[in-house]
Amino acid sequence: MKYIFVTGGVVSSLGKGLAAASLGTLLEHRGLKVVLQKFDPYLNVDPGTMNPFEHGEVYVLDDGAETDLDLGHYERFTNTPLTRANSTSSGQVYETVIQNERRGDYLGKTVQVIPHITNEIKSRIERGGEGRDVDVVITEIGGTTGDIEGLPFLEAIRQFIQEVGPQNAIVMHVTLVPFIKAAGELKTKPSQQSIAKLREIGLQPTVLIARTEEPLGADTRAKLSQFCSVPLDAVIECRDVPHTIYECPLALQAEHLDDIVCRSLGLTVPPADMTKWRKFVDRVIKPKKHVRIALVGKYTDHKDAYKSILESITHAAAACDCHVEVKQVEAEDFEVHDPAEKLGQVSGIIVPGGFGERGIEGKIRACQFAREHGVPYFGLCLGMQIATIEFARNVCGLKGATSTEFEKAPTHPVIDLLPEQKKVKGKGATMRLGTWECHLAEGTKALQAYGKADIRERHRHRFEFNNTYREQMEAAGFVIAGTSPDGRLVELIELRDHPWFVACQFHPEFQSKPNAPHALFKGFVQACLAHHA
Ligand code: GLN
Repeated sequence: MKYIFVTGGVVSSLGKGLAAASLGTLLEHRGLKVVLQKFDPYLNVDPGTMNPFEHGEVYVLDDGAETDLDLGHYERFTNTPLTRANSTSSGQVYETVIQNERRGDYLGKTVQVIPHITNEIKSRIERGGEGRDVDVVITEIGGTTGDIEGLPFLEAIRQFIQEVGPQNAIVMHVTLVPFIKAAGELKTKPSQQSIAKLREIGLQPTVLIARTEEPLGADTRAKLSQFCSVPLDAVIECRDVPHTIYECPLALQAEHLDDIVCRSLGLTVPPADMTKWRKFVDRVIKPKKHVRIALVGKYTDHKDAYKSILESITHAAAACDCHVEVKQVEAEDFEVHDPAEKLGQVSGIIVPGGFGERGIEGKIRACQFAREHGVPYFGLCLGMQIATIEFARNVCGLKGATSTEFEKAPTHPVIDLLPEQKKVKGKGATMRLGTWECHLAEGTKALQAYGKADIRERHRHRFEFNNTYREQMEAAGFVIAGTSPDGRLVELIELRDHPWFVACQFHPEFQSKPNAPHALFKGFVQACLAHHA
């Protein structure tokens, strides 16, 4: 097993996750089996309890782990499904060590960052690939070098490399090479300093990824190579890609990143054939058609809050040879303005997942607009609950229908807590999480899109369709299109008298890939194209 550690320097938001994922893509295309994982230095046990405004989207794995959105990049860029073993935080590391201490595992000893915390980190590095057919484990360390919280991780990596040998484990450092306009020059000093910080800990990178807005000239490359002690060809230029993040692996391949990594780790494998990937990128860059949709959310100010949804749209759009322009609309807008103003011109409406009362009435109005005007509607998780509330109120005449998430004892709790959720007190990792089976009914749009009746999708919610209202709503044209195999939980709904109105309790956006778009996203984009045709 070979190990690659991805660290970052100078500033955050350099796209370390994308660099790691892109390297994963290239290695996979060379025939290697790759697993990617993320180690985050924060103290939360997982990001499940963090506000999307703070942390962007929470990405959910098959086994129900609530993880950092970088795991979304990893799963979209490579094929090994990830598990909770691939998402670690300082919170988890400390939790384990403290539990061990209370159990008496270290009896008599003083428990310390070195060796106890670092040992736990090392065992988690190994666990990432354990029990699986994997050649390379790529571990990204969150944060930047110099962060106090990151130190135990870097120290653990130092020890780990010493133990397995530098031929089996390398560090790839991602740094910023800024262009200073006034001087008309690229500056290497921040990179020198961040490498110096790594060296203080005893880590020497093998590869330097230089994020830059301008091409690195020969002089800059030479300087970076000399000051940072990496071979000249291991200074990899990584400029902002012009159109889509899926160009990243191609840009890094042109810089021979994968060749250098394979050389350093002694991996003899054929070059990567990126033909299929390149074709996908071409379809993203040069689409033949265009369609505009609205995403009616409440975290629209944070660019990463709806990451997986936007990526899934890109995948589906490429498959339909079109560009989908996504207009992000604040749901609260529709509580004061007529939805027609912003939704009149769009060919499709998505209501994504969400928590809490803010923006709910606006989303209901957007949903009503979609239903009444025959605009394709795609509801994701909360978006299905919104569709249920809207239909109950405005078609079935159930006044005051809502979810018990927003009102304690409403007249019509059409969305209610799952029975097993009623006794849950804590907030961390207590929702209905991970992959569950769903059975699709005959004659539904969903069945047509998937092409099979038994599907598996990822969940993250506490509330659920209330079966008390099932018959009454069905009689009015609300279609229960998918349920849990025992028929008890409503997983997907549609509307009888509508061109394309599909809403699911699960999150299909966690299972879409560039060359394997999710069936529902593809169905939705096709419906949007048909809407104005
Ligand atoms: N807040 C809703 C629930 O807990 C929806 C969750 C979501 O959209 N992910 O059921």
